[in-house]
Amino acid sequence: MAFQCQRDCYMQEFPTSVVSCSPGELKQEINGKKITVKGFNVKLQDTILFPEGGGQPDDHGLIGDVPVVRVTRQGTEAVHFVASALEPGQEVLLKVDWERRFDHMQQHSGQHLISALAESMFGYNTTSWEMGRQRSNVELDTPSLKPAQVEALEAAVNEKIRAHIPVTVQNLSLDDHDLEKVRSRGLPDDAVGPIRIIDIEGVDANMCCGTHVSNLSHLQVIKLLGSEKGKKNKTNLIFLVGDRVLKYAEKSFSVERSLVSLLKTGPDGHIDAVDKIQKTVKAVQKSNLILLRDMAILVAQNFKLNPEKGNFFTLHKKEGDNEFMSIIANEIATEETLVFLTVGEDKRPGLFLLAGPSQKVADLGPRVLEMLQGKGAGKNGRFQGKINSMARRAEVEALLLEHCKSEP
Ligand SMILES: [Zn+2]
Repeated sequence: MAFQCQRDCYMQEFPTSVVSCSPGELKQEINGKKITVKGFNVKLQDTILFPEGGGQPDDHGLIGDVPVVRVTRQGTEAVHFVASALEPGQEVLLKVDWERRFDHMQQHSGQHLISALAESMFGYNTTSWEMGRQRSNVELDTPSLKPAQVEALEAAVNEKIRAHIPVTVQNLSLDDHDLEKVRSRGLPDDAVGPIRIIDIEGVDANMCCGTHVSNLSHLQVIKLLGSEKGKKNKTNLIFLVGDRVLKYAEKSFSVERSLVSLLKTGPDGHIDAVDKIQKTVKAVQKSNLILLRDMAILVAQNFKLNPEKGNFFTLHKKEGDNEFMSIIANEIATEETLVFLTVGEDKRPGLFLLAGPSQKVADLGPRVLEMLQGKGAGKNGRFQGKINSMARRAEVEALLLEHCKSEP
């Protein structure tokens, strides 16, 4: 038994009636979070909403004015998941989200055409395929594809589109002789009854449950974007069909326009411009690092030369790092001076270093850690680690200063 969407893939509205409606659940993933939605599973007399299968995602649409979130296959029946209950026996008008469906038809029929020609031209079998939200790919049974092969294949599939070849559906019984001429991929495991064949006249005959265009001209155009290494000795050929080619061109142009204005050069100069920027950034980072080291030494020397320096030194610097703090601590004789250093942005996690007489550092380190909500450890007159909050930095400074003052 076939669904109405398989008998007439172009039907956008269809009157039918509700057979059953029972409470159900749907597991969804929204922004990487798994949630379970409560709703209802609805079975209809017949449907134009395609249930997921053969590599093709399910349709969206409406039953009356109730949105259909998901359509799945249960044996020969389609189950429509909806948010609100429907009355069994109720007459309803089904509407399919046509933009989504026609896109699926273009990608799926395009896949049949690409697979057929990859096999007839190069002998590469299609072992699986995947329809993505942005782009799709066929997995070919070959370790690699040469750019010239991709180019020839793209030219050949587009030539077939220009030849406006009809695509028809045949239903063969399981003992039909014609069945031997047909490829066997793309049929759900639980398929029963007559075998559905998608026939691209003179090009390909393939068992498939999906919805397809009625003529290759409806594919408009196929763009093979290139190939990637696939699973074990396989190659994934990435493709776009029809409206997706137009959307991709629009998006690419919009990115290109932004880059022209950002890089102040035409598209042909973009790669060179980005390469130059990356090299400049690297050089600047390197010289920054050298300057920071030099500054650490100067900071320490400046302190040492101050006649009223006392026995406590503290500094906070946004741009510093662990090495910056180490250099200062090494330069200042910490046998008699307590050094408290922090680096990092004001409202972000940062780093700290407490250095000085061993006993003093061992006593004060854990308290500093607690006040700055940090994690760290120390030995031999050094205590350092990460801190979560600079909020109480001034308090820590006051505490340490008080300790140093009270020393003889
Ligand atoms: Zn198919």
